Amino acid sequence: MKIHKEIVEIIELEKNELSELDSKLLNKAIEASEKAYAPYSNFKVGASLLLENDEIFCANNQENAAYPSGLCAERIAIFAAKSNAPDSKVLKIAIYVGSEKGAQAMVFPCGSCRQSISEYEFNQDRNIEIITQKKGSNIFKSKSIKNILPSSFNSSDLIG
Ligand SMILES: [Zn+2]
Repeated sequence: MKIHKEIVEIIELEKNELSELDSKLLNKAIEASEKAYAPYSNFKVGASLLLENDEIFCANNQENAAYPSGLCAERIAIFAAKSNAPDSKVLKIAIYVGSEKGAQAMVFPCGSCRQSISEYEFNQDRNIEIITQKKGSNIFKSKSIKNILPSSFNSSDLIG
């Protein structure tokens, strides 16, 4: 038997420990969360994404009465960014959860969003930083999607 362990490194920060750029992005995520369409869960999420070309794309979750038809803020933001600037690398994504629901202070994107972010991180060969904050909690940061999606599936798995 062989055990494979992967190290997950997540940094916890207080608001005053955030860089000016990260703080700006997080504020944009907060603004976006306020406009979320989340009448069913009331779990309002905002995302703001910075591209290498300095463009920022913001989005929020969009729910639907037919639940699976809705989509998370993170995927709307990254799909919009890559639709408009496919050649620009994604540097960071800030996510704000405007709800105190749930037991954990640390909230990271759902599995489908992690996989979507991972697709672009793998292809661009540059880490995408994830910054998250839940209302009333500290800020959590991961230097790469790999930290929160170890052993991820990517295009290299389809070759051969
Ligand atoms: Zn998601």
